[in-house]
Amino acid sequence: MTEHAKETVEAKLGLLEYRKGPEPHIHLKDAGASAPCVSRCEKRPCVSVCPAKVYEYDEAGAKVLVAWENCIECGACRMLCPFDNILCDWPAGGFGVRYRYG
Ligand code: SF4
Ligand code: SF4
Repeated sequence: MTEHAKETVEAKLGLLEYRKGPEPHIHLKDAGASAPCVSRCEKRPCVSVCPAKVYEYDEAGAKVLVAWENCIECGACRMLCPFDNILCDWPAGGFGVRYRYG
């Protein structure tokens, strides 16, 4: 394994560049007190699967917080939400994450 491949995911994410869009590109369809996030989604896969830690469950507020600015646009959360409660689009052109390859 090369030295480059041994870098942690967190370290690699720290190298990414973001250009914050004017509007959130991720929304919860239902973010209220009766949302499935609160009442039915026991495992909350959005919190564990997102590599960029966009989702956090706020126990005190009984709601899912969404730090959409950190999104690396992988699409996993939308696929794995068991209640189809996530609307995840692409940021407007010119905004969002910028990758460097090589
Ligand atoms: S996976 Fe979906 S339903 Fe579950 S906590 Fe996240 S957004 Fe809510
Ligand atoms: S698209 Fe990927 S990086 Fe963005 S919020 Fe969903 S899981 Fe996280």
